[in-house]
Amino acid sequence: MRPRESRKMTALTSMMGMEVSLDPMEIVGAIDADGRCAHWHSALDVVANKCATCGKWFACAWCHPADHAFGQIPLDEPAVMCGVCGHQMTFHEYGTECPSCGAPFNPGCKLHPELYFQVSD
Ligand SMILES: [Zn+2]
Ligand SMILES: [Zn+2]
Ligand SMILES: [Zn+2]
Repeated sequence: MRPRESRKMTALTSMMGMEVSLDPMEIVGAIDADGRCAHWHSALDVVANKCATCGKWFACAWCHPADHAFGQIPLDEPAVMCGVCGHQMTFHEYGTECPSCGAPFNPGCKLHPELYFQVSD
């Protein structure tokens, strides 16, 4: 984590009039600016998920540290972030593409919502 550097980067991009092309929030495990990680890095793997326990964004559940389980988020809280434009959405808004910028998402991710959301009750 280098907060001083990322602040500088944010100031620079807003000076250039580019709102959120570099995501403003740190995505743990991300290996590129779109939120891909060592586990999932196809062209479609640009979604980040929020942990309810630590409140941080993760490129995927496997990027989360082992000191606590990934905290599932209620279905109506924004817990999915498009790594391309930074748009945040709830489970219900989340589909096969970003509702904000139209970036395609990996449809396979929605097959295991129990990793990230409170779907059991
Ligand atoms: Zn956590
Ligand atoms: Zn990962
Ligand atoms: Zn987007």
